[in-house]
Amino acid sequence: MAAILPPAMLGILGGGQLGRMFVTAAKRMGYRVTVLDPDASAPAAEFADVHLCAAFDDADALATLARTCAAVTTEFENVNADAMRLLAKTTRVSPSGDCVAIAQDRIAEKSWVGKAGLPTAPYLAIESVEDIQVELSPYLPGILKTARLGYDGKGQVRVKTADEARAAYANLGGQACVLEKMLDLKLEVSAIVTRTSAAQVAVFPVSENIHQNGILDESIVPARIAPELAARAQQYAVQLAEALDYVGVLAVEFFVLGDDSLVVNEMAPRPHNSGHYTIDACVTNQYQQQVRAMCGLLPGKTDLLSPVVMVNLLGDVWGEDGSEPNWAVLMEAPNTHLHSYGKKHARPGRKMAHYCVLAANVDDALEQARALKDTL
Ligand code: ADP
Ligand code: MG
Repeated sequence: MAAILPPAMLGILGGGQLGRMFVTAAKRMGYRVTVLDPDASAPAAEFADVHLCAAFDDADALATLARTCAAVTTEFENVNADAMRLLAKTTRVSPSGDCVAIAQDRIAEKSWVGKAGLPTAPYLAIESVEDIQVELSPYLPGILKTARLGYDGKGQVRVKTADEARAAYANLGGQACVLEKMLDLKLEVSAIVTRTSAAQVAVFPVSENIHQNGILDESIVPARIAPELAARAQQYAVQLAEALDYVGVLAVEFFVLGDDSLVVNEMAPRPHNSGHYTIDACVTNQYQQQVRAMCGLLPGKTDLLSPVVMVNLLGDVWGEDGSEPNWAVLMEAPNTHLHSYGKKHARPGRKMAHYCVLAANVDDALEQARALKDTL
């Protein structure tokens, strides 16, 4: 397939912070970008050439995207997979609607991880109430997760007993769920792979991820794990992308267990919060990779230029009256980059900004990153 070159128009479904960083990368290369997002103040709209302010399944808006864009991608996994399949009839779409549909559904996702020959936590797929009337002890204590629409720890209930699991399932309204055994995590890591339609792949350095209340708080790169383990995580991500015949950027989250075994937690069919560090610290960043994959270009090199720590800033750091954090010290730090998403309303738990600290080693970067957070 011929490569799509600047100044072609690229389309993206979703205009959140991932879309904003995608637009920034694409524009810098000379592409033009159309964003579809129903929010008039979507973070990506500020930088886009065209903002189609409409619902994700709006027929007119989708027709405009198909007509005006040389290629279309997505920045969030809960995009309508059928809309992507529809667009694919007349324009290039990556990742495919089928891959997005798999990543949207924890049951399909886990079954594909298994098909790719990779381990998951022991889990029970619960599509209806009969499915939970079995012996649950292999999955307890566990976490009941809704199959769809969960993110940042939402739609999850921790359960100790079979009675608790059944009650939690009923409380979630009887929707499809997975009951997953609670594992003893040594740490969490992610690997982000880019795969093109010609099956070329490139994987970013593995990130070590620390969560607070189910939300990513810090990413540390290189991850503080044995190189062999990091290489295995990268290999697993490639294996999963290949099993799915995936085109685009795919993020894979892993659990590292006490015996250094790796378990696939979940995947995201797009750039990932744990890959923001690539903007400041890699030869090519994950948004440039998204552009390159959708345009049929070779993936860029993924080498790490410097150890780095990324810190997420949630609305909690903003004042109750919406006042900005005290940026003064952070802005003066010469090895630190702030990325603010331009969101008007700060709410607790809402991702508002992040910053990256680059230093000679991750211990120094982490120490500085945490000290900076205390000044905000
Ligand atoms: P989300 O879609 O909200 O990111 P995840 O399935 O990744 O949902 O779960 C969020 C976090 O909860 C994980 O990053 C991990 O810290 C914790 N967690 C999830 N599943 C398990 C499990 N089976 N065992 C231990 N911790 C888990
Ligand atoms: Mg997760």
